[in-house]
Amino acid sequence: MHPLLTDQPGEKLLLLGNEAIARGAIEAGVGLAAAYPGTPSSEIANTLFQISRETDLCFEFSVNEKVAMEVAAAGAAAGVRTLTCMKHVGLNVAADALMTLAYIGIKAGMVIVTADDPSMHSSQNEQDNRFYARLSGLPMLEPANPQEAKEMTVFAFELSERLELPVILRTTTRTSHVRAPVTLGPLPETTRTKGHFEKEPGRFVPVPAVARARHQVLLQRGKEAQVMADGSRFNQRIGQGSLGIITSGVAVNYVLDALEALEIQDRVEVLKLGFTHPWPVGLLSEFLKSVETVLVVEELEPYLEEAARVVAQERGIKVDILGKASGHLPRLYEFNPAQIREVIAEVAGIEHHPPQRPDLSWLPELPPRPPSLCPGCPHRETYLIIKDVLKDLGEEAIYPTDIGCYTLGLLPPIQMADYLICMGSSVGSACGFSATTDQRIISFIGDSTLFHAGLSPLVNAVYNRHRFTLVVLDNETTAMTGHQPTPSQEIMPPGYEHPRVSIEEICRAAGVKKVVTINPYQKKEAREKVKKALEGRDLSVIVSRAPCILYARKFGISKAKS
Ligand code: SF4
Repeated sequence: MHPLLTDQPGEKLLLLGNEAIARGAIEAGVGLAAAYPGTPSSEIANTLFQISRETDLCFEFSVNEKVAMEVAAAGAAAGVRTLTCMKHVGLNVAADALMTLAYIGIKAGMVIVTADDPSMHSSQNEQDNRFYARLSGLPMLEPANPQEAKEMTVFAFELSERLELPVILRTTTRTSHVRAPVTLGPLPETTRTKGHFEKEPGRFVPVPAVARARHQVLLQRGKEAQVMADGSRFNQRIGQGSLGIITSGVAVNYVLDALEALEIQDRVEVLKLGFTHPWPVGLLSEFLKSVETVLVVEELEPYLEEAARVVAQERGIKVDILGKASGHLPRLYEFNPAQIREVIAEVAGIEHHPPQRPDLSWLPELPPRPPSLCPGCPHRETYLIIKDVLKDLGEEAIYPTDIGCYTLGLLPPIQMADYLICMGSSVGSACGFSATTDQRIISFIGDSTLFHAGLSPLVNAVYNRHRFTLVVLDNETTAMTGHQPTPSQEIMPPGYEHPRVSIEEICRAAGVKKVVTINPYQKKEAREKVKKALEGRDLSVIVSRAPCILYARKFGISKAKS
């Protein structure tokens, strides 16, 4: 039995924040979950996927986050509690669905988990998704640790049902990936996995007249949510003093630890916020009135700092607000405990002698270890074949690339990655280069990424007569995020049989005339085929198919499988 199905309330399990969210969803009786994998959110989906194989929970890896959001939304409209989870940039993909979903709302609870990545440990930007809560008008919760992550997930379903709105649960990498003891709650006796959709076109079909009315409903629900935020048990005042600290998320831990280390708990009052959208205006106002100076400690953007300034200005509260605008804290990257300790000591005006860092200058410099493709990775072979063929042709190319292991094609000795914005951009940007240059263009995309966001721009390329070669690096899995399944995969985890969607047939059906398939380990044959595909400058697709070495090993399959 999966450990997260342990039915012993009160027992403690050592869980990752992401596992705690999955457990919270199970305790809340989630009946359907849908996701596209993306670090730092991946373990939520992976865990629910595993659990779905032992329970009635319906789980799907959708082809992208927007589809996952739509799947979860429809399930919740039919009366089943649903969850979708994604990394922060995934919410950009799902944003089109999100914004109108906020208008039409849901019937059963729906939770949207977005995992932000301060410092960009595995991401292309460090956007602060708390602003999606403001943009969409949806309630948002921010856990500070795994226990809260579980409790807030359970509460998020209840809140969602009370307001008939999806609720955003926003984590960051540290909260998602820290492991801590979590006290289990009871599991539901039954979980509703089948519902019934009651037709309500005056609500669920947002033609302009309907949408106008629903926007009013959303604003009204926002007011109700604000009252709830003010009284929420997740928003707490801790301690007493003339110096106030407002904080949320993982920074809560750094603040509380710093106060203890500096021994100033009796001089500082902390406003720890977990229900952060709508702003708990009443609570903020009382807090600001009760202190002389406030330091706002939050990672990334000054979201709460702005709330504090707005509330102080609107209510005529005279208080010094310090944080990012005052230069005490940066808008960049993750915080760390030592940094927060020093800032609090400075603001509190106490002498602080940070522990001396040990002198390590005598140590020899470590050789740099840039990330690289695994030894024997099939992508490496594909790159080398294309490089060789281009050399023979005496040509150079622009290489738009995409999100996946092959982004590492950027680095020497391969150096075949010139342009990247987001999922699917290798195909869309190739269209742009084709329209504006006479250069040869060879784009790279993975199988999972093609299904996620590469098919629409491919149709665009056909329709607008763009001329480039798209290389689909089909390694039979979503390798980068931990080997989740993809629609074209042939090697399937036992018990996970599903229809196979052919990349070649889709490309041909879209109108691509030249589609070739190579096995990059069969070099001679592959070179001939690549040469043919590069003849002329028409739109062509090369499907380079060989399993990810790490994935193939799990199933005992030779890398040279054809
Ligand atoms: S995980 Fe797989 S696809 Fe990614 S670099 Fe390693 S072998 Fe290649």
